Amino acid sequence: METTTAGAERKAQRMLDTQFARARAHLAHIEPGLVDFLHLARRSIIVNLPIQMDDGSVRNFVGYRVLHSRLLGPGKGGIRYHPDVSLAETTALAALMTWKCSLVRIPFGGAKGGIACDTKALSVDEQRRLTRRYISELGDDIGPFVDVPAPDLYTDAQTMAWVFDTYDQFHPGQNNLPAVTGKPLDLGGSEGREEATGRGCVDVAERFLELGGLPGLGGIEGARVAIQGYGAVGRAAARTFRDRGAAIIAVSDSSGGVLATDGAHLDLDLLDAHKAGGGAVVGFSGARNVTNEDVLGLDCDILVPAALGGQIHSGNAASVQARLVLEGANRPVTPEADDILHARGVPVVPDILANAGGVTVSYLEWVQNIENHSWSLDEVNVHLREYLVGAADRVVARWRSFPADCAESGLTADLRTAATVEALERLAHVTLERGIWP
Ligand code: NAD
Repeated sequence: METTTAGAERKAQRMLDTQFARARAHLAHIEPGLVDFLHLARRSIIVNLPIQMDDGSVRNFVGYRVLHSRLLGPGKGGIRYHPDVSLAETTALAALMTWKCSLVRIPFGGAKGGIACDTKALSVDEQRRLTRRYISELGDDIGPFVDVPAPDLYTDAQTMAWVFDTYDQFHPGQNNLPAVTGKPLDLGGSEGREEATGRGCVDVAERFLELGGLPGLGGIEGARVAIQGYGAVGRAAARTFRDRGAAIIAVSDSSGGVLATDGAHLDLDLLDAHKAGGGAVVGFSGARNVTNEDVLGLDCDILVPAALGGQIHSGNAASVQARLVLEGANRPVTPEADDILHARGVPVVPDILANAGGVTVSYLEWVQNIENHSWSLDEVNVHLREYLVGAADRVVARWRSFPADCAESGLTADLRTAATVEALERLAHVTLERGIWP
């Protein structure tokens, strides 16, 4: 059972406040008020949504949309449907989007939205009515050049089709496809969007290793990889790792994990057929059932937490045996665990770099929608790789530029801090270029 301390340690807002403070300490050369401004959300909206349920009763739901920044372009960020959605969590995740877009250099600001609800307890019709009411309440506070939503936890391409249709009903006579990304392929979606985050994780890991980020491991080929979370991100990462010569030794989902026996690798095609049959990875023949906690502590080269936030924390970071942690999920490693892993020489490639493939292909979808044109999968993947390799190069260069005496000066010198400093410095620079208004 989770202790109160572990629960508090995993709060998204606290984790991101710590991340901001650690990066801010490296930005003493920038006017403090300017840096602090970059932490604040520009606008927060709370909407109350009455929904007629299938049984005729009326229930009220609360939705949020936080626009953190429009410095670099329209807001960009997912819509999450989960019982834990709150203004505080939405605000923290919106800031993370601003940093991610700035780091990868795509022309978007940061935003996030969500509705506190349990989709497992809602029918498809109820979810559609909830989505339409939410989008109609947001009105002109979203739009192709204002704030562009996308899928997140428990929302998908179908949800984005409803978002598009609702927005389109209220804005007839114009091309509304760029108002939302992550749409179905035949409704303006992009080739490669679904697997972009997982594929991008592998592009980033490959570049990090090419740059000599982890002495003794020069590439992906032959690397032994364990993945927590076998959903959209984890599954695409697993397949891309496999296609580039790595061995997937273990994966897990909410039911538990499976570990290939005798040091072999999992056959992903057979595993997918098994999961399609029973809905879970456990019980897969040719593998041994293990717990989720076991997967996090496996002896492997690369561990990819691709499920939920706060999974690697002060209570289990010391037992992580992987040589490299690659954050597929948003903020799966807490600040306390960052410190433990850093002290042990285990690099953590942070979410704003490792999982930026999703928002990058969302941007490519937006560009294709504006052009009213669609690109091939190869074109999309080439662009994706270019953006991520560029960002990985900048993060590694910044990481290597940190002075050797950071620890004595009370400064954090891990990859997450390097990525955040890189993102914030660019935002500060652009704020000054634009000039503080009025
Ligand atoms: P998903 O719902 O498709 O998959 C999540 C997976 O995690 C499922 O297989 C689920 O069974 C598993 N899971 C849940 N609890 C678990 C636990 N305790 N241990 C192990 N596995 C568990 O979601 P997704 O789209 O793959 O997103 C995963 C994470 O990546 C989320 O944190 C999301 O915010 C983040 N992310 C997703 C994208 C994207 O493009 N999908 C982009 C950036 C970040």
